[in-house]
Amino acid sequence: MNEKKKKVECEDMVKVVCPDCAAEFDIPDDVMVGEIVSCPDCGLDLEVENVEGSTVEIQKIAIEKEDWGE
Ligand SMILES: [Zn+2]
Repeated sequence: MNEKKKKVECEDMVKVVCPDCAAEFDIPDDVMVGEIVSCPDCGLDLEVENVEGSTVEIQKIAIEKEDWGE
């Protein structure tokens, strides 16, 4: 049998914590800084702020509040 295995390292996940609802979820460790991930719990969009080895920092996307101070 010639079983070609693609090198899909789907086990390389890192755990991140949603800064809003504190839910823990896994994202692939090959995310790039600036990528947007969504919290599976509250649906908040989070931006990858820093990737260092197996540590990924995420933060809320800053939403410009332009609906006040007109
Ligand atoms: Zn959340």
